[in-house]
Amino acid sequence: MTEHIDLFKTDLGERGGYDAVSQCSRCGYCLQACPTYVLTGKEAFSARGRNQVVRMMMEGKIKDIASAEESLSTCLLCGACSSACYAHIPTLEFVLEGRRTIQKGKAHWLVRWAVWLLRDHPHSWSGMLKLAHFAKCLGISHFLASCGVFRLLGLQELAAADSHIEQAPLRFAQDHLRKKDKAEGQEVKPRWLYFASCGTNFLFPKVALASFRVLSQCQGKGRFMRNGCCGLLAYNYENVESAKTSAQKNIEQFEREKNSLPDRASMVADCSSCVAFLKNYDQLFLNDLDWKPRAQAFSQRVRDVIEVASPQTLTPRPSFIVTYHDSCRARNGQGIVLPPRDLLKNLLGDRYVELSEAEWCCGGAGAYSFVQPELSAEILRRKISNIASTRAELVLTSSTSCLLQLAYGLKKYYPDCRVMHLSEFLKEHGQ
Ligand code: SF4
Ligand code: SF4
Repeated sequence: MTEHIDLFKTDLGERGGYDAVSQCSRCGYCLQACPTYVLTGKEAFSARGRNQVVRMMMEGKIKDIASAEESLSTCLLCGACSSACYAHIPTLEFVLEGRRTIQKGKAHWLVRWAVWLLRDHPHSWSGMLKLAHFAKCLGISHFLASCGVFRLLGLQELAAADSHIEQAPLRFAQDHLRKKDKAEGQEVKPRWLYFASCGTNFLFPKVALASFRVLSQCQGKGRFMRNGCCGLLAYNYENVESAKTSAQKNIEQFEREKNSLPDRASMVADCSSCVAFLKNYDQLFLNDLDWKPRAQAFSQRVRDVIEVASPQTLTPRPSFIVTYHDSCRARNGQGIVLPPRDLLKNLLGDRYVELSEAEWCCGGAGAYSFVQPELSAEILRRKISNIASTRAELVLTSSTSCLLQLAYGLKKYYPDCRVMHLSEFLKEHGQ
């Protein structure tokens, strides 16, 4: 089983793990960009420290694996260090490699089970989530969490997840989109494909449907791609082989679909974490002569909805202040900084207020808020304090994890403000 990445994309070309991590010159230029370093002042919690930890693990020089584990498990995988680094060292990739080494191929059973259901048994997965909807509505999940049942089962992260999730939907975006495609038939050729991310599909279907609507207004007819999970869950928490299997399924699905599309038609998704991963599929196959070009052809077509949505006016134009929080994987993973800002400045004028430290992670970071609750809470408080300083009543963002984390933090510390995905806002107000 392939647990590790063979080759990494670096500024100096494709390199094996040791050569790639050794490119870190330890200059420290990235220190002030790293939230965990800024908050703790610990070298082991910086990108420079983490790169050295991974390098020493590869050299067999780390005897105390627990100290390495603390350094690596506290990384947000936000990528802010890579954006600050003159050599764009992909520290988060090395952190994941280090975690995989420590994990020794034994991912948590809950992760393996979730990936297996999501990818290989999607109907059972949907059924499970529908049961979760009723458990949430009836207060069963809250009851189990407050009685400590999740903790007794060694699943304390589920209790934390339950407290972050306000609603579990009964119908998913894919149900609506399949029905819509069937009703419209095949007469008009679609001009783009919608790739449904698991987060927006299963947790925030309103966001997915808003993205579809906004894209239809901007780009004409589109179609749901009937994709599976992008593989990011497996990549971050299980193993590389499993992530590759998910990627191959999606690449094959795209290859089946592309003949019915215009040349250069794009595949658009709306959770920036998934989009960044989809755009980087080729890194999974750099050593594979068959799959590498297929993955590259796939990745070249992927777009984030926040880089392509372009309504011209807002009706009604909000009278309240709106601000924008960068999803780490939009800003650092894809380099998307200006398009959403230009759009919002254009549409909102002086009602748009730039957020101080907008590029700082919110502490959501996938499962980070559940597995590192103290650091995550500190990062979240700082984020909400910055949002409160703008006096905004609405903060916009573009990934599922940010939506969950900011909603949780705003409710707790600054309930005058709410959070929305940019697509939802454009659907409500855009023309
Ligand atoms: S990651 Fe980049 S900026 Fe940070 S210490 Fe290494 S070389 Fe310097
Ligand atoms: S990915 Fe984020 S938390 Fe991790 S080392 Fe880089 S800046 Fe720090």
